Amino acid sequence: MLREAHEDLRRGVRDVCARFPNAYWRDLDAGRRYPEEFVRAMTEAGYLGALIPGEYGGLGLDLSAACAILEEVNRSGANAGPAHAQMYTMGTLLRHGSEEQKEAYLPKVATGELRLQAFGVTEPEAGTDTTSIRTKATREGDHYVVNGRKIYISRVEQSDLMILLARTTPIERVEQRSHGLSVFLVDLRGAEGLTAKPRRVMMNNATNELVLEDLRVPAGNLIGEEGEGFRYILDGMNAERILIAAECVGDGRWFVEKATGRAGEREVFGRRIGENQGVQFPIARAYASVEAASLMVEKAAALFDRGEPCGAEANLAKLLAADASWEAANVAVQTFGGYGFDAGYDVERKFRETRLYQVAPISTNLILSYVAEHVLGLPRSF
Ligand SMILES: Cc1cc2nc3c(=O)[nH]c(=O)nc-3n(C[C@H](O)[C@H](O)[C@H](O)COP(=O)(O)OP(=O)(O)OC[C@H]3O[C@@H](n4cnc5c(N)ncnc54)[C@H](O)[C@@H]3O)c2cc1C
Repeated sequence: MLREAHEDLRRGVRDVCARFPNAYWRDLDAGRRYPEEFVRAMTEAGYLGALIPGEYGGLGLDLSAACAILEEVNRSGANAGPAHAQMYTMGTLLRHGSEEQKEAYLPKVATGELRLQAFGVTEPEAGTDTTSIRTKATREGDHYVVNGRKIYISRVEQSDLMILLARTTPIERVEQRSHGLSVFLVDLRGAEGLTAKPRRVMMNNATNELVLEDLRVPAGNLIGEEGEGFRYILDGMNAERILIAAECVGDGRWFVEKATGRAGEREVFGRRIGENQGVQFPIARAYASVEAASLMVEKAAALFDRGEPCGAEANLAKLLAADASWEAANVAVQTFGGYGFDAGYDVERKFRETRLYQVAPISTNLILSYVAEHVLGLPRSF
């Protein structure tokens, strides 16, 4: 493997992950349970507060370090998915929240007293096309009253707080579709007017349909300015893409290591399958793809940390890393043969988990469209 940055940090994360072996994740997957114990351990070690500045009780690390954390989690065979949202949803509050909001919430998020793991954007009529969301927040005195439906909103039942995107000015009354959307910090504890209906999806992901019926959110929980919410959400997307890309690199490395191990010990026709180039080459190619993607993740994170524009690199990192982990996942299944489909070998679980990143939080097509239009200057297609 290439020399890796943040070796001390990575070692610490590996130590925490070692307490949660594959059998732990396998059992959770079978029972569709949320990894409460793992999330608690990661929070207690400070890793989920990595990006929260020291003045609010976090580790105050940069994005490159946060990438190292998430990569190591997935590389260990675990799934950072149930825990990662806190890292990037917190950014909306940190960058656009008032000082009062930051002081009230960030220290508690850092210690785990408050869990900020839910991010409510997607709706049945608006997934990729975010500005079409129909959830409405109407100001009534010192509250906003929220009505609408959201879909695939993860970890609502395991969070105390949710970042919610809603329309505050009807789409017919704004000059641009991206205007008139606002971001709220919703306190989920005992909230009335909010029903979560769990959706069973391909992997163990606590995701829900949300029905919002006259949910009352104090006006003080509006983040930033009313109507500017889409910009705030976009603002966090580079960080989100780079962090998810790091998870994909971790998955890719796990698959390559698994496939290599299996190829070196499984004997068929009296010889190890890894002696056949037909088995070796796809693993070597997947290794090359993962290492190349890792360089793009490093580049994107370094630009982000220097405060330089990184839209192109963040998107490329997400695209290349999601493709590399998916390639490595397929190679691992092929190398394991029938055992690749057997839950007892973990490959099929990780295969299902890494598949998500072709679609969420942004699909491959949308990244290609970004690159075509914004990097290559090709005509806008939608
Ligand atoms: C397990 C899971 C967890 C999730 N967690 C959350 C969460 O916590 N919070 C949240 O807000 N959302 C969450 N999502 C939602 C996720 O972000 C969306 O599913 C995703 O953004 C895609 O939206 P969609 O499903 O509506 O697909 P659609 O918008 O219906 O798109 C379907 C397909 O068409 C393609 N497509 C659409 N338009 C174009 C175009 N113009 N050109 C080319 N291709 C196009 C897309 O790329 C996609 O492949 C989650 C989803 C899943 C599956």
